[in-house]
Amino acid sequence: MTSTPTETATQGQAGAAAQVPELLSVVVPVFNEEESLPELYRQLDQVRREQGYRMEILFVDDGSTDCSWQVIEHLAENDPSVRGVRLRRNFGKAAALRAGFDHAQGQLVLTMDGDLQDDPAEIPNFLEAIRSGYDVVSGWKRVRHDPWHKVWPSRVFNWMVSRMTGVKLHDHNCGMKCYRSEVLREVPLYGELHRFVPVLAAARGFRVGEIPIRHRPRKFGKSKYGVKRFVKGFLDLLTVKFITGFGYRPQHLLGTLGLAAFLLGGLGLVYLTLLWILSRTGSGTEVVHLHQRALFYYCLAALLLGGQLISIGFLAELITAHHARSSDVYSVAQRTPAPPASQEQADA
Ligand code: UDP
Ligand code: MG
Repeated sequence: MTSTPTETATQGQAGAAAQVPELLSVVVPVFNEEESLPELYRQLDQVRREQGYRMEILFVDDGSTDCSWQVIEHLAENDPSVRGVRLRRNFGKAAALRAGFDHAQGQLVLTMDGDLQDDPAEIPNFLEAIRSGYDVVSGWKRVRHDPWHKVWPSRVFNWMVSRMTGVKLHDHNCGMKCYRSEVLREVPLYGELHRFVPVLAAARGFRVGEIPIRHRPRKFGKSKYGVKRFVKGFLDLLTVKFITGFGYRPQHLLGTLGLAAFLLGGLGLVYLTLLWILSRTGSGTEVVHLHQRALFYYCLAALLLGGQLISIGFLAELITAHHARSSDVYSVAQRTPAPPASQEQADA
């Protein structure tokens, strides 16, 4: 179940540092954001100093064609807690985030965009919400500073994702999110699935929450995404629905559809056979009506489709059987402490 720890997140930020001894990794995907990076670093550093956090800042340059990488190198030279990872070409935001997660060392990982639209001053609110018991906390740009043609489709998209997945967030696509690192070890992230990490995490039993955050207009550069993202987003939603529902039992879906098609085709053929028998025992004249001929072809197509769906289901099961690791099949929340070593072992 998803819930919104809004109240907890808006109060009691002062003591955050004392209670969060963990290392916080801030992961920033960067694609042509050279003007924004020095200011973003300054704001992050300010929050770190004010709150006394242990923080590393990881910039992932996703194949920028401007001077973003040179800026990152410069920041890393002057501050050992800043690290940079440069991808060979533009792989997309999800890949950049994955690279960031693979290099992050913190027990907590916070992602934010590199264009200054997300405000580092919100970080204490995220940590507060994580401390209140959530494994994933997603930001909600309650007041968005983006053009209407992004905001409105985005609202429809968020409503659809929440309805279809049961993870009720106002802003699935928000770039500012905070995770316990174990979440990121378990959740697959490829293609453009970065929008669905909370959904994928919730499907594995992690607790997902949401806090409202301040959003700022883009100051430099331009957005890398257009309206096309909603079409891709919808297709990704179908994929995520399939992965979370049937990822480890694909035949249950494909086989059910296949059997249904088989059954319909079979029933149609039985019906046509009965008609044929009745017409033979009657007057003796055999008239095949056009609709019967059409039904016959539909039935054949349904039988073929059913057979194909079931075969694809078996192929999918075969792939699952060969690739599923036990860590994929379940997610461990806690373990009892290991029993004390026996005396013999202790002496040895
Ligand atoms: N980004 C990226 N790779 C891409 C596209 C975007 O790393 O292929 C980064 C971009 O530099 C920014 C973040 O992802 O830090 C969000 O991108 P953008 O601001 O263009 O998205 P919007 O805010 O318009 O949704
Ligand atoms: Mg942006």
